[in-house]
Amino acid sequence: MKNIATLFCCLFLSVSAMAQQNWKAVMRYDKQLAKEQLTKRFMEYVTYDTQSSSHSQTTPSTKGQLALAKALAKELKRIGASNVQTTKTGFVIAEIPATTAKPTPTLVFLAHLDTSEALSGQNVKPQLHAKYKGGDIIINKEKNLCLTEYNSPQLLQARGHDIITAYGETLLGADDKAGIAIIMTFADYLLGNLNIEHGPIKIVFSPDEEIRTGIKALDIDALQADYAYTVDGGGLGEIVVENFNSRRFNAVFNGMRSVHGEYAMNADFSDNVLMASDFHTLLPRHRRPENTSGTRGYIYVHSITTEDDRSVVSGNIRAFTDEEMQELSQIVTQAFNTTKSLNPKNKGAELTFQDEYKNAKAVIPAEVIEMAENAMRQEEIQPKRISVRGGTDGGILSFKNLPTADLFAGMFNTHSALEYADVDVMEASLRTLMSTACGWVGQKTE
Ligand SMILES: [Zn+2]
Repeated sequence: MKNIATLFCCLFLSVSAMAQQNWKAVMRYDKQLAKEQLTKRFMEYVTYDTQSSSHSQTTPSTKGQLALAKALAKELKRIGASNVQTTKTGFVIAEIPATTAKPTPTLVFLAHLDTSEALSGQNVKPQLHAKYKGGDIIINKEKNLCLTEYNSPQLLQARGHDIITAYGETLLGADDKAGIAIIMTFADYLLGNLNIEHGPIKIVFSPDEEIRTGIKALDIDALQADYAYTVDGGGLGEIVVENFNSRRFNAVFNGMRSVHGEYAMNADFSDNVLMASDFHTLLPRHRRPENTSGTRGYIYVHSITTEDDRSVVSGNIRAFTDEEMQELSQIVTQAFNTTKSLNPKNKGAELTFQDEYKNAKAVIPAEVIEMAENAMRQEEIQPKRISVRGGTDGGILSFKNLPTADLFAGMFNTHSALEYADVDVMEASLRTLMSTACGWVGQKTE
């Protein structure tokens, strides 16, 4: 039975593979040329300082993002994209009209303009280390800053690849200018080769992903799209299929501390600082973030504040499944109840929960993932499903009715001075986008 199922599966795959046009033959794809184009674009985009700022009240949070947005809009017009617009909030939106009459879903490809606050994005000077031979890559001799196979294990698969780093003073900004360079080159290829068969495609470059405010300003209804892919991932073949559920908790403990220690024993004394400390200690250490990995969730206290007779313990629970979220919430509740019983003279205590964001897995149709995985296999790339231990723009979009998966973009060690881009992995991502766009042709069901 299993063999018959496998046979059917193979037949289906080969039929769908046969039905898909060979875009590489149509455009006479040249891998070396693609790498040169990706490198040129990437080296230019990283020179824009687009660091976002969580202290800003505006969207985009910084002016540098608008400067890159304008440059990208100009380039999109030059390569022939339709309805190119930049919004006041810093989005670049453009269209690539369909070249097929077959019913095909409208796809959106997104990347973000901003870079992390972790390190400066000013005066980024990219350096290209062509054809990596193995061993260490020196980023900055004086600072003794090197990429090694120990701090960057993905280098073990990068022999012969072109690697781009900064000079150790700034971020490189591969997160997410690698994604922007890939999407721009993808757009360039589709607009320059009208014989490649694909459905309607939209391009979106968004601001302030790193500070989690940008994507909320996107008008999803106006996009009128069916599915989306962010190009904001890491290693070869990686596709993000889920993100954490996040729940915030606040435990408030009221006490009576304004009694001199000398009289505390016989007075109506109760110590809210001790209660906060008890509560924190009662939360299990093996469920803390530094002691969990993979798909195991955690409980994390991020602040304890005290003002006179009131202490507040605030934290997060993160879990991939609703069951685990329930389990961890119960652990927090138990620790809270035990704290109250350990401190019977407390002057009132309250525990509240608030849901923040949800795992998008439940709202992303299987085809969105499978189409990208089929495209990778077609390009001889082994797909690898990833569960992100945090929130993503894709998660936010998915819950706004635009199911979104995240594809690899060839960026590594992001948010650090060791950040690098692997141009060969970027090139594999570009081919994945091309094959994904072609793979969806004729797949619109309604
Ligand atoms: Zn990113």
